[in-house]
Amino acid sequence: MDHWSKGRVALVGDAAYCPAPITGMGTSLALIGAYILTGELARSQNHIEAFKQYEDLMRPHVVKAQKLFPMATRIAAPDTATAIYVRNVLVSVAAKIFNTRFAAKMLEEKFDNTSSLPDYESLSLR
Ligand SMILES: Cc1cc2nc3c(=O)[nH]c(=O)nc-3n(C[C@H](O)[C@H](O)[C@H](O)COP(=O)(O)OP(=O)(O)OC[C@H]3O[C@@H](n4cnc5c(N)ncnc54)[C@H](O)[C@@H]3O)c2cc1C
Repeated sequence: MDHWSKGRVALVGDAAYCPAPITGMGTSLALIGAYILTGELARSQNHIEAFKQYEDLMRPHVVKAQKLFPMATRIAAPDTATAIYVRNVLVSVAAKIFNTRFAAKMLEEKFDNTSSLPDYESLSLR
């Protein structure tokens, strides 16, 4: 969506920027979005400023996470019994080959580096 807030209401997570299950980024985006929105509400003068900051800081993460490789949806959600069978075999083989460290590395590259997130430590949120 072009904007994630209207008036005093702001959306977070899938409601605002669901990246599709096959990206594997939905939960990370929801958590990062909640973190940034909370931090900006705490340090801004008012909700209008906070919502703008939230969108400005969050948008680059969302744009990056929503990028799909070509044919991604077709491969993930095939529409014939044979293609579904092939997809399931490939996924089960991939799950055996790739360990969690490999998956973590892939996701890290998607997000560059979480140290690029704002530091709200000094706000002492309670
Ligand atoms: C099949 C599938 C696989 C996925 N795999 C991955 C993955 O591997 N990695 C990953 O990061 N993400 C994955 N995702 C995406 C991830 O689940 C979502 O991006 C993430 O859960 C979004 O969190 P959220 O808090 O925004 O929404 P949700 O987790 O959907 O939470 C919304 C909550 O609001 C509640 N709710 C709805 N309406 C109302 C109402 N009127 N009143 C009160 N409560 C209400 C719902 O019951 C729900 O509990 C997958 C999603 C799917 C569908």
